[in-house]
Amino acid sequence: MLSVAEALNFLLQSARPVNAIETIPTLDVAGRVLAQDQFSQINVPPMENTQMDGYAVRAAECATGSTVLPVSQRIPAGHVAGPLKAGTVARIFTGAFIPEGADAVVMQEQCEPDASGDQVTIRHSPRSGEWIRRAGEDIQAGHLILSAGTRLRAQEQGLAASVGLAALPVWRKLRVAVFFTGDELTMPGEPLKPGAIYNSNRFMLRGLLQQLGCEITDLGNVPDTLEATRDALRRAADGHDLILTSGGVSVGEEDHIKPAVESEGRLSMWQIAMKPGKPLAFGAVRGADATGETFFVGLPGNPVSSFVTFLLLVRPFIHALQGARVLPPNSFAKRADFHWPKPDRRNEFLRVKLNDKEGLDLFPNQSSGVLTSTVWGDGLVDNPAGQVIKPGDTVRFIPFSELFN
Ligand code: AMP
Ligand code: MG
Repeated sequence: MLSVAEALNFLLQSARPVNAIETIPTLDVAGRVLAQDQFSQINVPPMENTQMDGYAVRAAECATGSTVLPVSQRIPAGHVAGPLKAGTVARIFTGAFIPEGADAVVMQEQCEPDASGDQVTIRHSPRSGEWIRRAGEDIQAGHLILSAGTRLRAQEQGLAASVGLAALPVWRKLRVAVFFTGDELTMPGEPLKPGAIYNSNRFMLRGLLQQLGCEITDLGNVPDTLEATRDALRRAADGHDLILTSGGVSVGEEDHIKPAVESEGRLSMWQIAMKPGKPLAFGAVRGADATGETFFVGLPGNPVSSFVTFLLLVRPFIHALQGARVLPPNSFAKRADFHWPKPDRRNEFLRVKLNDKEGLDLFPNQSSGVLTSTVWGDGLVDNPAGQVIKPGDTVRFIPFSELFN
């Protein structure tokens, strides 16, 4: 059996990232992966400006803490002012550039203008630099602001825009074909015949792929025959980077993934020392024109196995294919508020929830078919093989939030 780390290593070493770059408007890059390092051409802010509505002053002229001075100019944000005459102050508004000569801003709450506004009493002795944002305080011209491989979120979009980047180079979207094996699978909306179950993996896996920004082709349910499985593989190989399936990866008479992928390409069947999980099929399917191969990952059919295997193994593999940096999820030492007296010989990933005492509660049914555990839970406890857990023990907690995107 492979350890989770060994399986992951193997996947990451096999990954060939997409290699086509497209340049798209910064407004549309959310969820895409940056293809080239980005540098700023400008300082942000470009010039000193005020953080407050108030008066721009020479700090030395207000040293007594109660100074009456004439107001020589008014500077709203976006308007450029001349130098500040000595012995005067400027009325100034948040974001406006500091006039030459001024070295502090006194907030308006500490100032009393006369009725005409021509003169003001400054009731504060500011230090030089008070309420002034320095030029380049956020970003200096020439500096790296975003590195290649970054998955672009709202904050990266904002940062790119703040230095004036109107478009960004991103890797093209990963094209993933999915299908689901099992004669028992029925679509929601249809009546459940005897022996049938609803195809929950179709919804869950599509959701996970969507969150990762993949372009999805859904080939739907595929009957449990070798021919149907081979046919689905051939269709899926065409124009995709990855084929992802669920079910049929055991080696029973009704499991056709192994022989089907072997005849359409190449396959390794892995037994991974993890629970839920264990069987995982990894390989590649020949392309229609025999020039290329499409990666193949076959997940187990049990919904929680499928979910956990996707999060721990397929997600980082997809990151690598997308050209994104692959980072291990953050995990946290937490107190177990539960018993786990009969651990498995495999590395377990238990569905748990944070309680209001900052400990972890365990979902009572840890069976790999119980999807409720994934909805109830906040994350997984990564429990080493054979490890008994007693209340009060410290365990390794991976929040689900670390395993999305
Ligand atoms: P398999 O991996 O095909 O042996 O399936 C293992 C278990 O998962 C069986 O109980 C299947 O009925 C169930 N299963 C397989 N595919 C799905 C699916 N798409 N949605 C929900 N359950 C599934
Ligand atoms: Mg099956």
